Formats: sequence, structure tokens, C-alpha cells
Amino acid sequence: MTTAAAPPTRADLVAADAADSLAQIRGAFALPDGVIYLDGNSLGALPRATAGRVADLIDRQWGQDLIRSWNTNDWIGAPARIGAKIAPLIGAMPHEVIVADSTSVNLFKLVAGALGLRPDRRVVLTEPGNFPTDLYILQGLARLLGERVELRVRPRAELASAIGEDVAVVVLTHVHYKSAERWDMRDITTRAHAAGAVTVWDLSHSAGAVELDLNGAGVDLALGCGYKYFNGGPGAPSFVFVAERWQSALVSPLSGWMGHAAPFDFGDDYRPAGDIRAQLCGTPGMLGLTALEAGVDQFAGLNMAAVEAKGVALGEAFISLVEARCSSSGLTLASPRAPTPRGSHVSFRHPDGYAIMQALIARGVIGDFRAPDILRFGFTPLYLRFTDVWDAVEILRDVLASGEYRQPRFAERAAVT
Ligand SMILES: *Cc1c(COP(=O)(O)O)cnc(C)c1O
Repeated sequence: MTTAAAPPTRADLVAADAADSLAQIRGAFALPDGVIYLDGNSLGALPRATAGRVADLIDRQWGQDLIRSWNTNDWIGAPARIGAKIAPLIGAMPHEVIVADSTSVNLFKLVAGALGLRPDRRVVLTEPGNFPTDLYILQGLARLLGERVELRVRPRAELASAIGEDVAVVVLTHVHYKSAERWDMRDITTRAHAAGAVTVWDLSHSAGAVELDLNGAGVDLALGCGYKYFNGGPGAPSFVFVAERWQSALVSPLSGWMGHAAPFDFGDDYRPAGDIRAQLCGTPGMLGLTALEAGVDQFAGLNMAAVEAKGVALGEAFISLVEARCSSSGLTLASPRAPTPRGSHVSFRHPDGYAIMQALIARGVIGDFRAPDILRFGFTPLYLRFTDVWDAVEILRDVLASGEYRQPRFAERAAVT
């Protein structure tokens, strides 16, 4: 046990903002007044540049240049171009990343492809409580492929030892969407390789928030989300990483024409591109890609170690202030206390979590709720200030102490929580 440091004062946090080398990036985002946005891990905020970029796409590129834009405005190159911009943020080479489809669809493609790399094995290993779509996609794949696949779900504590000689693919989410617990990517990948398995890492809650070194960790395949820390807008396309060594062998089950070696030859037979483009399926959606590129461009030149350090420090301040100032509130920490195994969000449990989050949102502190009892607060390093943490905790303290969350209106469930 280490003794917790004294919680910061507001003056400490003012000083932390003044010393923050990332502080000026906040100005590049259009954040509404009166809102403390602690949900950038779920839907990233709007970059100021996005509207102009999308307007240019619509008015000039689509409106004036029309179909010529595939060449003249390099629409055709957008998936690989944006992938190459994401690559240095995740420790990949530019030609190892491409943007396509949704996270759910990319998981299907990569796990199906990974099974093809291990034709004599049928086990796909993952953990319970993984993000629902990840489990659902694996269940669908297992149903589709029948005898070919055995889906094996093992609790976190037993997972490493479950990577046996019969495992084809290990599928994990690097930073857990609820607890923010972080897997040791290098350790699991090394164990998987020692057993002859390949790894698929879901980086949805990691990319853009924590420092990643996919090649340093020996990762085979990975994917992640465009609308969370990459600020690509609601439903933005996802990105895919395929290590160079797998690019000629990995076969996408969605053998659409954009993944063909020569799509404009219009031949009858599928011939995969043989590089990262084989992960493309259909025609790239330029409206979504344009907004995603503006979101990813906010990271140009940033040092991801500094980005991670700020997110961790924001989370640290939040945990110590909540525990010091909301101590009799019934909140219990659901995230790792130590910073290193944590991502950039922090979760607390409370039996009235839903109503408390609704009351917070009504007061301008936007986080989210994850059933059955998790209050989740995202600390996006690019646009949050240390003083925002102070102000959010003061509002949380007031919502809890006053009991205002007990008002019936805060118990009404909306379709999306
Ligand atoms: C957000 C998230 C997804 C989202 O998948 P979509 O296809 O974009 O809906 C998938 N997996 C994880 C782990 C996530 O956090």
C-alpha cells in the first residue's frame, strides 16, 4: 500500500494548467459554454476545422469537381492517407494502417482473417465483459463458421494461462471500456506468439489517449474507433492495423472490389491487393472520412507520451478529489487506482449511478453511464483543463450532497445512455 498523496487544491490545478504544454490545443475545439465535457472517450468533441473541411468537400469537391474528385482531390487515396496519419500515433508504420468500415465490421474481418492464418486451430480466446459488440461479432462469426470455431471466454485473471497450444486468435480490448483497466499488450502478445497464436487488439479506448507501440509489442492485427479520441464525428469510420509481415497472407472475408489488386480492371475474379488496401471493402465514404481526417489532424506533431501523461494526471486528480470531497457519497472506484494500468477514463460505481449521471448532465458535466452501476468520466488530454476536474468534482459533490439526483426526472431512461 502506498499512502495517497494529499488531494490537489484549486490553486495546484490552476498551476498545472499554466504549465500544461498541451493547453493551447483546446482552442482548436468548438466546446459549448457551460459544459465540462467528460465524454470524449465516447464521442470526441468537434474540431473547429471540421465544418470548413466538410463544407469544402460538399461545395467544391462534390458540387463542382464531381466524380473527377476521386483523382483530382485524391478521394481514392483518403483511406490510406488517413491511416498513415494515424500510424505514428499507435506505433505503426504508415503502410500498416488504413481506414475503412466500422469497428464492429473490422473486428469481423480481422478475426476471420486471423483464423485463416492458423488453419489447424479453432479456438478464439477473449474475456467476458469485453465491449458488447466485440463479443457479439465473435458469436456471429462462430455461428457462421460452425465447427471451424470454438469461442473460448475466460476471466481476466485466467486469460494469460488460457493461451494454450490450441488457440488460434487472442482477441482483447486494450483499455477496458468500463474500468479503464489496461492489458499489458506486449506480455499478452508475447505469450500468444509463444503458443503459436495471433493477436487482435481492439484499441477503441486507447488510440489517441495512451502511448501505443504496436510494432514494439509485436502486435499482429489491431483496429480502433474514429469517433472517440480521434474526434472524427458520430459513427466515423474505423481504422485497421495489419503488421507488414501479415499483409500478403491475411485474407479479408469481405472481398469487395476496393480491396482488389486492380479494382479498375473490372475483372471477374477477386485478387487481393496484397498490402493494407486488402482491408478495404467497398467505396470509401468521403463525408465521414473528411471529418475523421480533420479530427486526426489535431494530433499532428504531438508526442503521445505527453498526451498519455496528461490524461493520467487528469484522472489522478479526479480520483483523489472525488475520494476526498465526496467521501460519504457511496461512490466506489471501479478503475485501477495506480495510473500505469489505467487508460484515460475513470469509473466509479454507485447504485444510483444512472440518476446521478443524469443530474450531472443537467448541470453541464457530461459523462456517461454504463449498466448496471458505472459512472464513467473521460479525461481527453487534448481539450480538458485541470481546473475542469476541480469544477466537475464540485458539481458532483453538490449533486450528491443535495440529493438532487433523486428527482424523478433523472430516473427516466433515454434510448441511449
Ligand atoms: C466504441 C467501441 C466499439 C464501437 O464499435 P462500432 O462498430 O463503432 O459501434 C467497439 N469496440 C470497443 C471496445 C469500443 O470501445
